[in-house]
Amino acid sequence: MKDYKLYINGEFVEGNSGAYIEVENPATKEVFARVPDGNEVDVDKAVAAARAAQPAWSALSPEKRADYVEKFADYIEKHSDEVGKTIMAEIGTPVKYVYGLQVESSIEHGRYYAELARRYQYEKKVGDDMAVRYEPIGVIACLTPWNYPIYQETAKIFPAIAAGNCIVLKPSQIAPVSAFVLAEAAREMGLPAGVINIVTGRGSEVGTLLAKHEDVDMVSFTGSTEQGKKVGMMGIESNVKKVALELGGKSASVILRSADYEKAAKSTMMGCFLNTGQICSALTRMVAPREIKEKLEEYIVSFAKTFTVGDPQDEKMMIGPLASRKGFDKVCAYLRRGLEEGAKMIAGQIPGDCENGYYISPVVFTDVTSDMTIAREEIFGPVLSIIYYDTEEEALQIANDTIYGLAGAVFGRQEDALRFAGKMKAGTVNINNGNFSIEVPFGGYRQSGLGRENGEDGFGEFMETKSLML
Ligand code: NAD
Repeated sequence: MKDYKLYINGEFVEGNSGAYIEVENPATKEVFARVPDGNEVDVDKAVAAARAAQPAWSALSPEKRADYVEKFADYIEKHSDEVGKTIMAEIGTPVKYVYGLQVESSIEHGRYYAELARRYQYEKKVGDDMAVRYEPIGVIACLTPWNYPIYQETAKIFPAIAAGNCIVLKPSQIAPVSAFVLAEAAREMGLPAGVINIVTGRGSEVGTLLAKHEDVDMVSFTGSTEQGKKVGMMGIESNVKKVALELGGKSASVILRSADYEKAAKSTMMGCFLNTGQICSALTRMVAPREIKEKLEEYIVSFAKTFTVGDPQDEKMMIGPLASRKGFDKVCAYLRRGLEEGAKMIAGQIPGDCENGYYISPVVFTDVTSDMTIAREEIFGPVLSIIYYDTEEEALQIANDTIYGLAGAVFGRQEDALRFAGKMKAGTVNINNGNFSIEVPFGGYRQSGLGRENGEDGFGEFMETKSLML
């Protein structure tokens, strides 16, 4: 077991409280690391370091800052094996997917934001006598979840520092270890002290302190809608800091009548079950025409059996454990609720116990209606609900019948799918299994968030806008 230290002002330092948070491997239930349980003293030190470093950092040219960001990508790439193994231990992503799903996109973040920062137009002329300038915000607190630990961190940190800000990161207490690769990288490349600081700890302590801190200019939060609302309120109430929120989802995958239903079902199930269903944009509601019920379900039942579930270190496994006991109990409670409310489970089962890790096989419910709890709330596990429609208007009504609006998918003839996607209230819509890319913005309508990450919009989030009248 390894004990970690905080990373503040370019140094690894002990936490002030002397207390630790244990990090458990969900596949074995073994505690393999401990991180400091940060407190107010640590937070104040980290914010002060970021504040002190920011003027000199923002005075560097965008090209110089971009060079540092690119070096992070190089470092993660060089250590990708180790980073992948750490994430596997933290949250149980299988070895088959851990590099592609978890590590590669953080390398892409580094390369993409370095290139964007070099070519970005930080000042735009308007007419003959006006200009709009984009400037760094200052000190940014980054609060991140555990389901894609390094990806979520680099989605914030790289654009933030490329734009001239300094940051304090509080990684999730469930998966805090992989963040330290960023500290190691910062040390090796000689990143100026204070540009990046890492304070581990609990959301209720370190997260709250950062959200309320009067010397923090922006809080960028990714996590649940429930906690995001609180973070937003604290951020505004304290000093009207800028608030960016990337929150939960209940995304619909709509199979139009013109779709190849087998391809659509396969793609939806992959989009629902990968990472053990612990994906904010997971396609958890399949909306399908009623007349294909029988053949669709026959296909789904047979395809569900092909998902191998077990030890993440085994190359044959597609689904690892849920990341924590809390997540396991929550998903089991939803499975029981689904049955109680009248849905029919056609694949998977309620697991007996979690003696040997927090495993749950993919579950598919049919005969689900939009008023059932499993169709309304974010389960965050490998659970798919099928809801049938008679008319396309009804399909749209079902797809949009949610408080969320993070993502969605449509399958069908391209022009039909595009027309339908135009009416969906979601920040990202995948058409006929299109590829995910960090070059386009990602974020939510409605209660799935405020603002965007990725793409040029994601970079713009980390800048202030100043108008100049010449
Ligand atoms: P969470 O809301 O419990 O915590 C997220 C982070 O915020 C953690 O670091 C946590 O310690 C901290 N935190 C929690 N409560 C806080 C509070 N009151 N004040 C300050 N900080 C607080 O979420 P989680 O369980 O870590 O992650 C799962 C959730 O994240 C899901 O709802 C998922 O949909 C969402 N998510 C969203 C996106 C997106 O891009 N929209 C991406 C990944 C995950």
